[in-house]
Amino acid sequence: MSARIIDGKAIAQEVRAEWKVRADILKSKGVTPGLAVIIVGEDPASKVYVANKVKACAELGLHSEHIALPADTSEAELLARIDALNKDPKIHGLLVQLPVPKHIDSDKVLNAINPEKDVDGFHPINVGALATGNMRFAPCTPYGSLVLLQKSGVSIEGKHAVVVGRSNIVGKPMALLLLQNNATVTICTSRTQDLAKHTRDADILVVATGKPKMITGDMIKPGAAVIDVGINRMADGKLCGDVDFESAKEVAGYITPVPGGVGPMTITMLVANTVQSAERAAGK
Ligand code: NDP
Repeated sequence: MSARIIDGKAIAQEVRAEWKVRADILKSKGVTPGLAVIIVGEDPASKVYVANKVKACAELGLHSEHIALPADTSEAELLARIDALNKDPKIHGLLVQLPVPKHIDSDKVLNAINPEKDVDGFHPINVGALATGNMRFAPCTPYGSLVLLQKSGVSIEGKHAVVVGRSNIVGKPMALLLLQNNATVTICTSRTQDLAKHTRDADILVVATGKPKMITGDMIKPGAAVIDVGINRMADGKLCGDVDFESAKEVAGYITPVPGGVGPMTITMLVANTVQSAERAAGK
């Protein structure tokens, strides 16, 4: 039996349409949700991500500001830009594209962003809020992964969810979101002994390791929902995930492809967080 393929592109379109309705309601009341994205330097991948974020805002009729600063921008100058945007009422969401050049302390940058505008959800106050069940902004990639499960009709409550990876941007917040949705959660890392024993017990398996095709079909419980967060560029130029799609799809009940799975959801949830922030600012 072959798994049901979770179509991230289609679900992203559906979710964007839902948030467009909410953005239009705000606009009819004179509030246009606004996102500011700061990029420092010339990293080609970062430039593509930023361009896509700005494009998604335009699609939904949001206000967006793209602030491209040269690689030699000082930390003080960047912090001053952040401070100005923190105070700008047109801006409801603010993020600095990571990585920043080495002479800039990224923790200082994340801490400088007004937590009420921190649509990436990386500020320690928002990380703490998520951990204590008072979520304000969920980080976009795990939030998008959760929405994929929900929109696909995968039940989470009481299920065993295994997250492979514990990064601050994917693994840890993913585990917290699943926990908040009443899953029983296991987190695996590079130090986990007998990884397959854990993954084979997962009703929901989320993989975010950056290791191409490391989860194979024999490591998956029949019928499980598999969310592959990984994006890896292979020698032939093609993209692949952290899950071996070909063998996994023969065992899983649901599976996300790469590309076309989690990827399209990340920017969608960024837009969602921006609209939600504008709703809060408007007192809705
Ligand atoms: P990190 O490198 O920050 O973290 C990887 C995690 O995987 C670490 O916690 C590491 O464990 C764990 N890990 C590595 N090897 C193994 C292994 N053999 N067994 C078990 N655990 C292992 O990566 P990110 O979380 O930032 O990204 C993960 C993947 O997701 C990447 O492919 C990235 O490109 C992709 N990604 C996709 C996004 C999207 O929009 N779809 C957005 C963000 C990321 P340990 O802590 O012990 O080292």
